Amino acid sequence: DSFLPLEEQIPSACAQIQDYPKEGILFYDVTTLFANPEVFRRAMDELAARFEGQFDIVAGVEARGFLMASALAYIAGTGVMTVRKAGKLPRDTYMKEYELEYGSAAIEIHKEDIPAGTRVMLVDDLLATGGTLEAATHLMKMADLEVAGIGVLLELEGLGGRELLAGNRVEALALVS
Ligand code: 5GP
Repeated sequence: DSFLPLEEQIPSACAQIQDYPKEGILFYDVTTLFANPEVFRRAMDELAARFEGQFDIVAGVEARGFLMASALAYIAGTGVMTVRKAGKLPRDTYMKEYELEYGSAAIEIHKEDIPAGTRVMLVDDLLATGGTLEAATHLMKMADLEVAGIGVLLELEGLGGRELLAGNRVEALALVS
C-alpha cells in the first residue's frame, strides 16, 4: 500500500460513506487517514514540501484543519493560527459569514495577533464548493495577512471550489469526484 502514489493512497485511506450527511452525498471520512501513521506523515511531509520556504505561519480551519496545521507547523518550524467557528474566541475578532448548502456559518480569527504581511499557509482537510476556504482567505485579508497558498488533502471535482479560490495557489494532494 505504501507504494501507491499519494493521490491514490489518500482517498483509499479515507472511509467513504455513501449518503452521508444526506442522500446522494459520498462523504470522505478523514479520521481513518489521520489514524494511519504512514499516510498521515506522508501527506503532511508532502504538503509542507510544496510550500517550503513560502510561509511564516500555518492557519487551520476548525476542526480537522487544526490537526493538519499543527503537524505542518511542527515540520516547518512555524507557529499555528486557528480559524475558529464563531463564538469561541475570547478577544476582539474578525468575522466572516459564508453560505453552506443549507443556511450559513461564520468563522473568526483574533484581531492583531499576527503582524501584517505575515505569509500564511491555509489548510483544511477537504475542498468542496470552496465556501469555507474562501471565507478563511477573506479573514486573512481583513487582518492584512498574505495568503501564501491553500493546502488540502482532498479536492472534490466539479463543485467549483478551485474557481471560487481563483487567485490563490491551491495544492490538493488528491482529486476525487
Ligand atoms: P466547502 O466549504 O468547500 O463546500 O466544504 C468544505 C468544508 O466542509 C471543509 O471544512 C470540510 O471539512 C467539510 N466537508 C465537506 N464535505 C466533506 C467530506 O466529504 N469529507 C470531509 N471530511 N469533510 C467535508
